[in-house]
Amino acid sequence: MERTFSIIKPDAEGFYYVHRDRPFFGDLVRFMTSGPCIVQVLEGENAVARNRELMGTTDSKKAAAGTIRQKHGTDIEKNAVHGSDGPDTAKFEIGYFFSGAELASLK
Ligand code: GDP
Repeated sequence: MERTFSIIKPDAEGFYYVHRDRPFFGDLVRFMTSGPCIVQVLEGENAVARNRELMGTTDSKKAAAGTIRQKHGTDIEKNAVHGSDGPDTAKFEIGYFFSGAELASLK
C-alpha cells in the first residue's frame, strides 16, 4: 500500500471556450485558475438579470458604487465574479458544473 498526491485541476479553458479567440483568453484562464473558486447556482425570478445588476459592469473600475465588482474587483480582468449573461448561457454553464440531481429547487 502507498499514498500518492493528486490535484483535480479546473478546466477553465473549456468553461471559457466561447472566448477562445479573444486576445485576453490566456490572461483570463490564468486568473481563473490562480486560486480556489466557489461555484453556485442562484435561483429566483429574473435571476440572470438581477445577478448581473448586483455584479456591476465587467470593468471593476467602471462598475457602479455598491456592486460586487466595484467593491471586490480590481479591474477588467480581476473582476471578482462571473455571472451568466442570458438564460441559454446559464443553462450551459450550470450544466458544466452540476448535474440535475444535485440541484435542489425551492419550488
Ligand atoms: P462579463 O459577461 O461581464 O463577465 O464580460 P465578458 O463576457 O465580456 O468577458 C468575460 C470575462 O473576461 C470578464 O469577466 C473578464 O474577467 C475577462 N475580460 C473581459 N474583457 C477583458 C479584457 O479586455 N482584458 C482582460 N484581461 N480580461 C477581460
